[in-house]
Amino acid sequence: MKTRSVLEGIGPYNPPRLRQEISVDYGSDEFVKLTMNELSFGPLPEARAAIVETLSRAGRYPDRDADPLREAIARANTGLSSDNVVVGNGSSETLVDLMQILDRPGEVVIPWPSFPFYASAARVVGLDIRKIPLDDHHRADPDAMLAAVTPETRAVILCNPNNPSGTYLPLSEVRRFAEALPNDVLLILDEAYYEFVDDPTYVGSHDLVLQSENVVSTRTFSKVHGLAGFRIGYGLAPRRLADLVWRAHVPFSVNQAGQAAATASMGQPEAIAQRSRQMKRERERVQDAFGAAGLEYVPSHTNFVMVGAKPGLFERTGVLVREGEALGYPVGWSRVTIGGPEENDRLLAALS
Ligand SMILES: *Cc1c(COP(=O)(O)O)cnc(C)c1O
Repeated sequence: MKTRSVLEGIGPYNPPRLRQEISVDYGSDEFVKLTMNELSFGPLPEARAAIVETLSRAGRYPDRDADPLREAIARANTGLSSDNVVVGNGSSETLVDLMQILDRPGEVVIPWPSFPFYASAARVVGLDIRKIPLDDHHRADPDAMLAAVTPETRAVILCNPNNPSGTYLPLSEVRRFAEALPNDVLLILDEAYYEFVDDPTYVGSHDLVLQSENVVSTRTFSKVHGLAGFRIGYGLAPRRLADLVWRAHVPFSVNQAGQAAATASMGQPEAIAQRSRQMKRERERVQDAFGAAGLEYVPSHTNFVMVGAKPGLFERTGVLVREGEALGYPVGWSRVTIGGPEENDRLLAALS
């Protein structure tokens, strides 16, 4: 069979270590999983109720256009209408849909280390990838990324805040970057951690989408909304691009229970903001403890922290964290998800 040779070069997803693979003698089976930036809270009660309600309709296809969800998302982003909103089976699918609308051959510029999925998704759809190193402060380097743009560049992805470094660029810098980018290059702002950014001016990032032809933002219900298992993400896009995304999109990929849960969760902005504040208090506590223990860490604007410590350190108290080298960091760094208070207690117990 003639298959695409590019696929041979794409490594399968390299998952975090599992409890079974760890030989430390921790006297319990109850490991704490702080590997995947999931929220310890899970779905809001309103989202749980909405999921249960959809069971009676599970034999029917979902709403193909996800209208109520798209309207709820548009309402939360002043000035946008549901024509500017696309949804996906996780924002991962929206990222792929966006890459599918780009002309080929061509190249996608990304910061590095960043979300490894960008590189594999680009190659799968037939685009090349160019990785631009973070600066000395672990931040994306807009000038270096701009300098890397060539006539072959179809898109630039700015993961903001960046996974796995946890750093972010303020809106003024993102705006300057967007303005400097040629109009025929798509700027994808991956805002999976949007709701955790402390800076009050950042909430206006969707204005960039409104004011341009070539800026889209992707966000997700997998993080602050605690719905990772239901696979709902979305994109905010200029109408023309949103229209093209819908043409590329797999019909009915966004399941009914997830749509209902996400719509219900969008209806509770105060509860979501409250969770974000709680997470930040825990993040401060964890970062302070890292500092007090003399560990180097990157101050975070997300629900995870990159810290200069090997995973083995935390495994001593039964906590699994993500190995930095799987994410493009040197050996000896780990990405630690901020868990609930008791999970973080276990994490910090490893420091003493
Ligand atoms: C978690 C994450 C996503 C979200 O993925 P989903 O497919 O929505 O679950 C997207 N981008 C980054 C950088 C992430 O860390």
